Amino acid sequence: MDLTYTKEQEAFRQEARSWLEANVPSEPLESFDTKEGFDQHCDWERKLHAAGWAMVPWPVEYGGRGADLLEWLIFEEEYYRAGAPGRVNQNGIFLLGPTIMEYGTPEQKARYLPKMASSEEVWVQGWSEPNAGSDMAAIQATAFRDGDHYVLNGQKTWASRGAFAHWLFGMFRTDPESQRHRGLSFVLAPLDAEGVTVRPIEKLNGKKAFAEVFFDDARVPVENLLGEEGKGWQVAMATAGFERGLMLRSPARFQNTAGKLVELYRENADACEPSLREAVVDCWMGAEAYTLETYRTVSRMLEGGKIGFEASLNKIFWSELDVKMHETALRILGDRAELLPGAPAAEGVGDWLDGFLFALSGPIYAGTNEIQRNVIAERILGLPRS
Ligand SMILES: Cc1cc2nc3c(=O)[nH]c(=O)nc-3n(C[C@H](O)[C@H](O)[C@H](O)COP(=O)(O)OP(=O)(O)OC[C@H]3O[C@@H](n4cnc5c(N)ncnc54)[C@H](O)[C@@H]3O)c2cc1C
Repeated sequence: MDLTYTKEQEAFRQEARSWLEANVPSEPLESFDTKEGFDQHCDWERKLHAAGWAMVPWPVEYGGRGADLLEWLIFEEEYYRAGAPGRVNQNGIFLLGPTIMEYGTPEQKARYLPKMASSEEVWVQGWSEPNAGSDMAAIQATAFRDGDHYVLNGQKTWASRGAFAHWLFGMFRTDPESQRHRGLSFVLAPLDAEGVTVRPIEKLNGKKAFAEVFFDDARVPVENLLGEEGKGWQVAMATAGFERGLMLRSPARFQNTAGKLVELYRENADACEPSLREAVVDCWMGAEAYTLETYRTVSRMLEGGKIGFEASLNKIFWSELDVKMHETALRILGDRAELLPGAPAAEGVGDWLDGFLFALSGPIYAGTNEIQRNVIAERILGLPRS
C-alpha cells in the first residue's frame, strides 16, 4: 500500500483547503434538526455546489467535479479540518446518489442527481416501519401498479429530517402475493404529493426533525421506480453498503472528534485520573485505524472491487468508537459533562453532551449492531444460522 499522496492530490487538497478557509461560515449554523437550521444548511449546500464542492466524486454533468474516491477522502479531511457544517442532504448525496449512479436510468440520473447535489431537493430514507425495523423484509407499505402510476399506501417511520425534507426513497411491496425479500421495489416519492402526510417526531434532544410518513393512495409515475420492479432488495443492499461501509461516515469525522478529545485531555490533564490518558490514546488510535482501513477499501474499489459484507465490520467499528470517544470526553469533563451547549457555564464544552446523545444512536441506525454481528457470523464467518 502506497501511503504517500501524489502531487495532483496535494494540489487538490490545497485547492479545497483555500476555498473552505475563505468560505466556511465563521459562526456555526443552527442545528439542521430545526427549520431555521435546515434552511441555513441548504443555503450552505447551494454555495458548496456553485463552487463545485458539493459532491466531488460525481461526474461534472451531475454537479460533481469528477474526482476519484481518494480525492473524496482528502476533501472530507479538509472539510472537517475547516469545521464546515454537517451535510443536511447526507441521505441523498451519500446513500441515494451512489445508488442512482449504479441502478438509475440516464433520465433518472439527469433528473435527480443535479438537484440532489445542490440540495434543492433534500432526501429522506423511508425504510423503517412500525413493524419493520431490523427485519426490513417485513415491510408492509405497498406500491401497486395502476396504469402509468404506482399507488402508495402504508406508513414509514424514523425518517431523519423528514419534517423538512422534500423527497423520500423507500421500499414498498409491489407484488401483493410476495413474501419477505421478494416482491419489494425501490420507489422515489415527493413528500408534498397528494395523499402523503408527514408527522414530525421529537428527538431525544427535543428537536422535531424526525418524521413518520403516511401514504394514503398517493400516486407517483412508474418512472419513479429505481431498478427493476420486485428487485428492490438488491438495490437497497447497495444503498446499505454505502451507508455502513464508506460514505455516510467518512474517517475524517472520527479523526476530527479524536483530535478534539486529545485537546480536551491536554487542557484538563492535571485533573484527570491516569486511566483517562490511556482511554484517549485508545480512541485516537481507533480513529487512525478506521482511516487506514477506509483507505484500503477505497484502494480496492479503485481497482474495480466492491464493498461487501465487511461493511458490517466497519459499521460496528465506527459506531462503537464514536460512543467511546464521547464517553471518554464526558469522563474528562466530570461535573461539567452535564452542561448543554446553551448553558452559560458551558464554555464551549456543551457540544460533547449533544454529541454523546447522538453517538448513542450510532449502534441503532444504519442497521443495529446486533444485526451487523449476525451478518458477520453468517456471511463472513460462515457460522450456522441457528
Ligand atoms: C438516529 C436514528 C436515525 C434513523 N434514521 C432513519 C431513517 O432516516 N430512515 C429509516 O428508515 N430509519 C431510520 N432509523 C431507524 C433505524 O433504522 C431502526 O431503528 C433500526 O433499524 C432498528 O429497528 P427498530 O427500531 O424497529 O428496532 P427492532 O428491530 O425492534 O430491534 C429492537 C432490538 O432488538 C434487536 N434485534 C432485532 N432483531 C434481532 C435479531 N435478529 N438478532 C439479534 N438482535 C435483534 C435489535 O438489535 C435491537 O436492539 C433511524 C434510527 C435512529 C436511532
